[in-house]
Amino acid sequence: MMENIDRFGRRITYLRVSVTDRCNLRCIYCMPASGVPWRSHDEILRYEEIARIVRVAAGLGIRKVRLTGGEPLVRAGIVELVAELRKIPGIEELVMTTNGTLLSRYARDLAAAGLDRVNVSLDTLRPERFRRITRLGELEDTLAGIRAAQEAGLTPIKLNAVVMRGVNDDEAADLAALSRKGFGVRFIEWMPIGVPNESFSERFVPGDKIKEGIEEALGPLVPVREEGPARVYRLEDAQGEIGFITAFSAPFCATCNRVRLTADGKLRPCLLSPGEIDLRGPLRAGATDDELRRLFKRGIREKPFAHGVPSSSPHDRTMSEIGG
Ligand code: SAM
Repeated sequence: MMENIDRFGRRITYLRVSVTDRCNLRCIYCMPASGVPWRSHDEILRYEEIARIVRVAAGLGIRKVRLTGGEPLVRAGIVELVAELRKIPGIEELVMTTNGTLLSRYARDLAAAGLDRVNVSLDTLRPERFRRITRLGELEDTLAGIRAAQEAGLTPIKLNAVVMRGVNDDEAADLAALSRKGFGVRFIEWMPIGVPNESFSERFVPGDKIKEGIEEALGPLVPVREEGPARVYRLEDAQGEIGFITAFSAPFCATCNRVRLTADGKLRPCLLSPGEIDLRGPLRAGATDDELRRLFKRGIREKPFAHGVPSSSPHDRTMSEIGG
């Protein structure tokens, strides 16, 4: 059996790495206003530990790595991590998901270090609303970051939006229209992670509803393809694509190709299922590459078939720790 094929025939080629659980924003759908207690530096994987795990993963068939968090750009030395991961044979795509607030400072160096492209979270185009959603952010910083990423060639840029009823659902079409400027736009269904129950059931908007609203405002969305978790469409007159990630209303587990490395060094086969395999402990106790490979393979083998519809009860971990 190929080493990266799980019990259900899915080929696992994609590793998402949370490089830090810390974030400079407190988005209302992701974290409570008070934030979440940060893990201590000791608990968080060091860069050489991340690189070692990625090297083992590449040997097993991982081809794409996404750096995420928390906010990856708040961790000191992130450019050096990118340069280090870029050298690993087998890693064909190295990308990052960021809130963009610090991108204007780092875009050029990230590109020079070998980052291929970025996804930037952008839930609104209105400055006041941006402050309300992110609690600590300024829209202009993220827009400047997006421009810097374009200039640095970290393209095509995808913009990620979480739509919430009564918060920004009236802007889905405006965000979708950015696909006419060449951006990919991804609508991610809000998942019940790290937020209290009541607000979730009140504010959740299913992907189908978001799509309907966009079509009413901008015209038909032409199906392009299904790509991993996203159903991808295009407006007839747009270059950029519009995707819908419907983890809650229509899970896409059968085509899931990813596993996650949490900021504190656990391999997490499924975002929405609690199982994890500790890599940090064995790594720090002197595990050989072969032992790490065995643990990683166990993670692939133990990947559950489906998370089903996640319950709206609080999740075992926050998004920032697991790596959204
Ligand atoms: N700080 C970076 C950012 O803002 O893109 C990377 C980490 S963030 C956790 C990654 C993505 O997860 C963002 O696009 C964010 O909108 C999304 N996200 C966070 N909490 C979510 C939730 N409860 N449901 C759905 N998406 C969520």
